[in-house]
Amino acid sequence: MGIYLHIPFCQRKCSYCDFYSLSGANTELYDQYTDCLIRELTLRTAEYRLPLISIYFGGGTPSLLAPQHIERILDTICKLYLPQGDPEITLEVNPATISRQGLEDLRQAGVNRLSIGVQSFVDRELHLLGRMHDSQQAGQCIEWSHQAGFDNISLDLIYGIPAQNKEDWRGNLLQAVDYGPQHISTYLLQLEPHVPLARRITSGTLAMLTDDEEADLYDLARECLREADYLHYELSNFARPGFKCRHNIGYWSVGAYLGVGAGAVSYDGRQRRLNIPDLEAYLTALSKNIPLPQQILETMGRRQQLAEALVMGLRLVEGIDRDTLGGRFGIENWADFQPIIDHMVSEGLLMVDHNRVYLSPGAYFISNAVLSEFLE
Ligand code: SF4
Repeated sequence: MGIYLHIPFCQRKCSYCDFYSLSGANTELYDQYTDCLIRELTLRTAEYRLPLISIYFGGGTPSLLAPQHIERILDTICKLYLPQGDPEITLEVNPATISRQGLEDLRQAGVNRLSIGVQSFVDRELHLLGRMHDSQQAGQCIEWSHQAGFDNISLDLIYGIPAQNKEDWRGNLLQAVDYGPQHISTYLLQLEPHVPLARRITSGTLAMLTDDEEADLYDLARECLREADYLHYELSNFARPGFKCRHNIGYWSVGAYLGVGAGAVSYDGRQRRLNIPDLEAYLTALSKNIPLPQQILETMGRRQQLAEALVMGLRLVEGIDRDTLGGRFGIENWADFQPIIDHMVSEGLLMVDHNRVYLSPGAYFISNAVLSEFLE
């Protein structure tokens, strides 16, 4: 299992962001929130008694918490849960919120992997996205991370930014490669209608790229990163050998995870539950020992679990193993999906090699539409 900790604070909201996070918090609130996370971890110990292979601080902006907060949380997890070997411990870093000393202290606190939200090395693009940092700060943050002793660093990049052309994107990819990270994630800019950037699109002051232009940028990322010896192992993710993200592989393999904090989701293999994204309610519940405000998102039978395993597992370039999933979720359930798989194979969207089923590269960019067939 993995543990996900949601840190719902940001210095300022970015113009494209739809994640649950609030700006304007202070040290007192970070202290209080850390206390509540520790209380939730303590209260929910009995729910998840599985070997723990990964811990992930996401947000929001986890790098707004002090390293001492992170250390207290990690100490609690190590005492109460069942760490297996040397768990992967990732923390998302916003380059605008961290100092060199802060990175050294995070390393000391036990964090062994950083996911740095670079997004772009082009200042015009960063400005459009409403990011707090510029390209110089992004580069400095990566260099400080190396100097602080981190040897497992992931960089996030966004493509499909209005007016971005192939040369801009190639420049971003090559700049990222130059910094020598072990892992690179590339995300397509997708906007919910209510975020500020979407409103600029609707009003006609900016235009999104066309689907074909976005697909070209996606293909360019695959080409550039392959040439730089990164393994393309998941639709949006590339890694040096031995540096795939273990926490996210847990999600793609539909493993269990405990989500802690306001707005976090947990999955025990059958039921998906949401901690209501309401900071006030979260703090009140955990300070007064009243039940945590939660919502059951779905309770899945074995057929639905298999559908989920197909949708998530086929995001991995290596695909899924038919015998493994059939054994785990029932051969009879697998038989239900076989006609859909056969049809997709005949359409050239899926490929089969012995027991392995995987997406054909031509279907990567349209994977959402393709994989949603399993959910109907
Ligand atoms: S830093 Fe991340 S979570 Fe915070 S507003 Fe920006 S994109 Fe959203």
